[in-house]
Amino acid sequence: MDARPFGLSALVVALSGLLGGTADARGPAGAEEPSATDVPMAEHPARVVDYMLRATLDPALHTVHGEGTIVWTNVSSQPVSQLWMHLYLNAFKNQSTVFMRAPVGGFRGSTVPKEWGTIDVRKLTWSDAGTQHDLWAKAQLKRGDDEDETDAAVPLPRAVAPGETITLEMVWDDKLPSIVERTGFDGSFHMVAQWFPKIAKIETDGTFAHFPFHHLGEFYADYGKYDVTVDVPEAYVVGATGTVTESRVENGRRLERHVQDDIHDFAWTAWDKFQTRKETIDGVACTILYPPGYEGHAERELATMRFAIPHYGARYGKYPYPLLTLVHPPASAPEAGGMEYPTLITTGGGSYIPNGVDLIELVTIHEFGHQYFYGLIGSHETQWPFLDEGLNSYAEAEAMGQWLGKSSFIDLLGLGIGDAEGHAERARHYAHDDRVAQPAYAFGTGSSYGALVYSRTATILETLRRVYGDKAMQRTMGAYARRFRFQHPVPGDLIETFTREMGKEAGEFLRAALFDKGWVDFKVEAMSSHAVRVAAGIFDRDGKRATTPSAPGAPGRYEGWALVSRRGTLRIPVEVELLSEDGARTRVPWDGTSETIRVPYTGSSALRAAVVDPDQRVLLDENPENDFATAPGHTGGGAPRTLERATYWSELVLGAIAP
Ligand SMILES: [Zn+2]
Repeated sequence: MDARPFGLSALVVALSGLLGGTADARGPAGAEEPSATDVPMAEHPARVVDYMLRATLDPALHTVHGEGTIVWTNVSSQPVSQLWMHLYLNAFKNQSTVFMRAPVGGFRGSTVPKEWGTIDVRKLTWSDAGTQHDLWAKAQLKRGDDEDETDAAVPLPRAVAPGETITLEMVWDDKLPSIVERTGFDGSFHMVAQWFPKIAKIETDGTFAHFPFHHLGEFYADYGKYDVTVDVPEAYVVGATGTVTESRVENGRRLERHVQDDIHDFAWTAWDKFQTRKETIDGVACTILYPPGYEGHAERELATMRFAIPHYGARYGKYPYPLLTLVHPPASAPEAGGMEYPTLITTGGGSYIPNGVDLIELVTIHEFGHQYFYGLIGSHETQWPFLDEGLNSYAEAEAMGQWLGKSSFIDLLGLGIGDAEGHAERARHYAHDDRVAQPAYAFGTGSSYGALVYSRTATILETLRRVYGDKAMQRTMGAYARRFRFQHPVPGDLIETFTREMGKEAGEFLRAALFDKGWVDFKVEAMSSHAVRVAAGIFDRDGKRATTPSAPGAPGRYEGWALVSRRGTLRIPVEVELLSEDGARTRVPWDGTSETIRVPYTGSSALRAAVVDPDQRVLLDENPENDFATAPGHTGGGAPRTLERATYWSELVLGAIAP
């Protein structure tokens, strides 16, 4: 999901009347360079679980009646005598669920729903060698006094052997909540997600990765085929995961069958007011579903996809599905927006977002990016949320920068703020609070989760891109995305890929930044220079004693030094630039391994100023304002003025729209 929800502040609304340039004024940034295309990429995942479901919506009661079949294979190395099933909709059943008990401030979904949601399994059976077993009779929903019913244990009458496939029949009923945490209803708009009994992911050792639905945790599941028939009143427009293979109207009901291989979740929406736009982009049939009056938003979302589909394809491997549906929820249901499901994403943004603020583009790119970092690369998002949201936020900032240039987030009143700079500014305040690499539920607040998982991960990776170069980064991220397509990688896989593709130092930088709260602050400490003088005094040379008088040196020769320090625990190469009085500039590379460096200076005039990291490659730098200093007797200078202004504005704007 997106950490920067919709609901722009009064600030941006106030700015909107004073609009500067538009997104269209900034053109695309040149042709795509393919990256890591030689890295092999799986065409299909291991097929573990198939769902054949039928869902009947009652839009007046906001209920879904479900029936279906699950075909599940024990792909582990161990016999399995108990299944775990997730009933996520029960997270919204009462205020004693794990989800509701842990209202984590500073993130979306913190409000209590007006109407509660439930999922009730009516039947779960296994027909095994002619015997019908009622599995649900022995299922255990609650543990001890815990009221949570999102994680059910289902004992089996006999163990399922490794490699064995079983078929389960089930019937269930959903009562959708009023929109909360991206699912539910708002009037006749229905966003139906986390809606069916779902088998937890089985690990190779025979254990299940099961967990109650937590506020900050998202999903983790096995791949398979989904074949879902959605049954709604005729007047409703349906959007759903997967290609439509059948569509008909029968007795006033619309029946749409959606089928998709190689995915790990399925969501759908139905509303009687959806408008539709369709366009095939790079071979992908895109459909935008949007509220009446939002034609402009739909066009901006389509324009974003025209850039994003080929861009992500070149960076992270071709998007493998034939379709993509973008759902722009009604303005009254913003909580339904900004979410990802396989081949279906929800966008968002009210009617008042000015063109110079690229929030629609940003949210659309972010959610599309999840088709990779969530969909195709299926990491455990509750355990390692940064592998999903963090990598995706990096990809989002990279794409926004490539597409819209330096002002990729905000371009108002001559002020430009890049998406990457926005992430850096937001992350800076939380650098010492928590580790980035930890489970979602371990974060103290929703704000630190958002700032560290999304923004600090993005800033760490953007720092590596700027320091080691765009080509090396494309290669590395491209190799990771391709190598682990349809897999479930863990942090070690990411670090190992960086070590292999970018080198040991880059791998260690990434590890320390993610796991050890690593930080860095480069600082210009001091500098000095003087005209080169002939040494005065008594000298014994060649057996003769001579006295050299004190005198001015040769004109136009100066020497001195600048002292630069690296504070913090992260080591990374950087450059130091020395500026002379006469305007000359000299750059000196520093590997950044020691804690200080005294950079020698020689020039034809005095040393005027020094800048460490003049191109601002180390976006992670904790305090960019001390990257620049002037020699004693000088004040002011060019670099920090711009920087301070950008920092100030991005803080103001991000503070206003952050969760
Ligand atoms: Zn996200």
